[in-house]
Amino acid sequence: MSERIYLSPPHMSGKELTLVQQAFADNWVAPAGPHLSAFEQQFCEYIGAPYALALSSGTAAIHLALLTTEVQAGDEILVSTLTFAGSVNPILYIGAIPTFIDSESDSWNLDPNLLEDVLQLRAKTGKLPKAVIVVHLYGQSADMEPIMNLCEQYGVMVIEDAAEALGSSYQGRHPGTFGRIGTFSFNGNKIITTAGGGMFVSEEKSLVDHARKLSSQSREPVPHYEHTEIGYNYRMSNILAAIGCGQLSIMEERVRRKREIYDYYQARLSHIPGLTFVPEVPYGRHNRWLTVILIDPEQFGADREQVRLTLETHNIESRPLWKPMHLQPVFQQYEVIGGAVSEMLFERGLCLPSGTAMTDEQLDTVISIICQIHEQRPVQ
Ligand SMILES: *Cc1c(COP(=O)(O)O)cnc(C)c1O
Repeated sequence: MSERIYLSPPHMSGKELTLVQQAFADNWVAPAGPHLSAFEQQFCEYIGAPYALALSSGTAAIHLALLTTEVQAGDEILVSTLTFAGSVNPILYIGAIPTFIDSESDSWNLDPNLLEDVLQLRAKTGKLPKAVIVVHLYGQSADMEPIMNLCEQYGVMVIEDAAEALGSSYQGRHPGTFGRIGTFSFNGNKIITTAGGGMFVSEEKSLVDHARKLSSQSREPVPHYEHTEIGYNYRMSNILAAIGCGQLSIMEERVRRKREIYDYYQARLSHIPGLTFVPEVPYGRHNRWLTVILIDPEQFGADREQVRLTLETHNIESRPLWKPMHLQPVFQQYEVIGGAVSEMLFERGLCLPSGTAMTDEQLDTVISIICQIHEQRPVQ
């Protein structure tokens, strides 16, 4: 059997090991050090934010976003339903209550019209949500202008989960810099990785300072260990930050290749009846973290799961879209506004292998298998 083709495996530039060796040579094998500060600073420069804090995961960044903005148990938090559980779990860590919002079909992200409906409804009953967590899915920015306007109008704060959107843009600005706080992830299959990690960014220095304190067990700045609030062990280590510096240095090259991979698939598959691609909404750049196709089983001749399993028999990893949060057993008691769009996307959507180290030959293999499935479909 040929070598497995993964969905989006880590892709080192070669500079990472040198940076890690440097950290070892200086014995900065610690949860602090020069690479950590450098990574934060370079990240700020890349996305255009004034302050950033590197953490152990993207989920930790969202948890700290809720903590530093004083979300309380019982507060309502609106959040995209089509997302990874990491966007939602921290809401429950705090005892706050998620309400899920469906996607709009252009960008697949949080639907501003549904947001307006729910904010209107809540304003009538006099109890507004505490925050909206907007997710930028698969590297396409949500439509931030109407979302920000609505949230400003109703006085509801915005937190952006930009875990999948590093390298994307919205009206020339980087997703994650619109809301009060933006969060990012460097988990293993993200567009760049530090093996595991996250980033918390904000224009408010006080929030970042507070998050920094909470992330290292809320130690007070005194010589002995003094604590006046509950803390967490969420800081990124200097070693992982060294990997991050290497990865960040080739970020634009990674986006370029991700977009090329998308174009390659699109040019060779979009003529097949029943296959559609997520368009790039004209308001910004899509980082094309993963190339996603929608499969109409009637027209294509096989459904998403049949395609996935056939690719699997060829040792090729592909994956359904995120299963909407309102369909997850663990979150089923919470309200959902809409839901049909994300359910359809989950039914029909398949993420294709999109690793930046993939060769054109490997892409051709995936493409020819998908073409074959269509050609060999049962005649109706
Ligand atoms: C990956 C991801 C997260 C969580 O990041 P971790 O670093 O894995 O904790 C959160 N939200 C979305 C949308 C993600 O894709």
